[in-house]
Amino acid sequence: MVTESRSWLEIIECSNCGKTYDPDQLLTVCEACGKVLLARYDLVAAARTMTKDSLREREWNLWRYHEIMPVRDPQHRLTLGEGGTPLLAAPTMGAELGLSHLLLKDEGRNPTGSFKARGLGAAVSRARELGVQAIALPSAGNAAAAASAYLARGGMEAVVFMPQDAPEIFKAECRALGARVFLVDGLINDAGKIVRENGAARGWFDVSTLKEPYRAEGKKTMGIELAEQLGWELPDAIIYPTGGGTGIVGMWKAFDELEQMGLIGSRRPKMVVVQAAGCAPIVRAFEQGVRHADLWEGAETIAPGMRVPIAIGDYLIIDALRESEGTAIAIPDDEILSMTNRVSAAEGLHISPEVGAAFAAAGQLRETGFLREDERVVVFGTGSGLLHTDLVEEGYPVLDPNDPNVGTAIDEAYR
Ligand SMILES: *Cc1c(COP(=O)(O)O)cnc(C)c1O
Ligand SMILES: [Zn+2]
Repeated sequence: MVTESRSWLEIIECSNCGKTYDPDQLLTVCEACGKVLLARYDLVAAARTMTKDSLREREWNLWRYHEIMPVRDPQHRLTLGEGGTPLLAAPTMGAELGLSHLLLKDEGRNPTGSFKARGLGAAVSRARELGVQAIALPSAGNAAAAASAYLARGGMEAVVFMPQDAPEIFKAECRALGARVFLVDGLINDAGKIVRENGAARGWFDVSTLKEPYRAEGKKTMGIELAEQLGWELPDAIIYPTGGGTGIVGMWKAFDELEQMGLIGSRRPKMVVVQAAGCAPIVRAFEQGVRHADLWEGAETIAPGMRVPIAIGDYLIIDALRESEGTAIAIPDDEILSMTNRVSAAEGLHISPEVGAAFAAAGQLRETGFLREDERVVVFGTGSGLLHTDLVEEGYPVLDPNDPNVGTAIDEAYR
């Protein structure tokens, strides 16, 4: 079945002051108040062709939801086969944590190994459509890799800025993908400052998290897919490892769009933000009952995706938590590490530390009674463990092939 392949992008609107913008110009943040801009669509028109039936015929990539995605010309829809990630049962961990319907949305299978592919796939495609040739961004690692991939695909220039101590694989991957790589003696917000102050003069468009309207559009597809995979129902809770928060903000927005399109009802999952104890600005703000999260000083954690000390979309994340009767929880690094290794071995799925934190959160929230045993709980597996060779807890036994007693060494190693 052929459906008209168009986007019903209608307007860009400030999430804070409501000011509206022509959607076909290049935009960053609101020029009136400096806050986050969001894309709005003609959902009545979109609902005519984006139906449960028509979706069955479409390819599993970001653009299967093209009616409510921002790119108008199909030629500008870059794809590397992102999205369509499996929603897997996690039965062993479910039994251990006391959750009989525990599911893992395995985003680690996306191009470059994380869900960042969705956000950057959308943002790079749309920027390209609007005439951008070079893009700069600060990143803890995954976003830089994803941006480099889509920019290479689009024949554009990538300039990425990462903390000096970001895992080596991200630097190597960006290089391999043809990006210019800069390391910053600081954290992602320091890298962001350098991009902000130096990018425009060099003609680099800044695609920092939520500082342009389209990364969130890519990430919202996680929420649409989830609904579609559950037969157009939403789970009881979504556990999400949170840094800048685009995932939460995007999914929460997607649920409203789906409801207005008649694809789902009004029931919403409890949204749960998970952060590392060494960098938990959103958790702290949520607990204090405020809507803005101050900079977290001295941010430190083994989970790079959550080492984000300040988030421009803090109020949107916190609103989603309150509206959904969700919560926010911080997990210390030692628990993140042990849970990451435990889940990987228990389920046969090599997860990243951010995901380990989310599983640890699920366990704690079960213990406090926030989650019930029979609730359907989805943990977002935002990244692949393959990117984290630094998380091995102990060394490996090394065998000498000429040692006549090599068998003894083998037996002793795992005694
Ligand atoms: C970026 C990242 C996160 C945080 O995602 P946001 O949507 O920006 O909050 C979580 N996990 C991984 C693996 C990441 O790369
Ligand atoms: Zn505004």
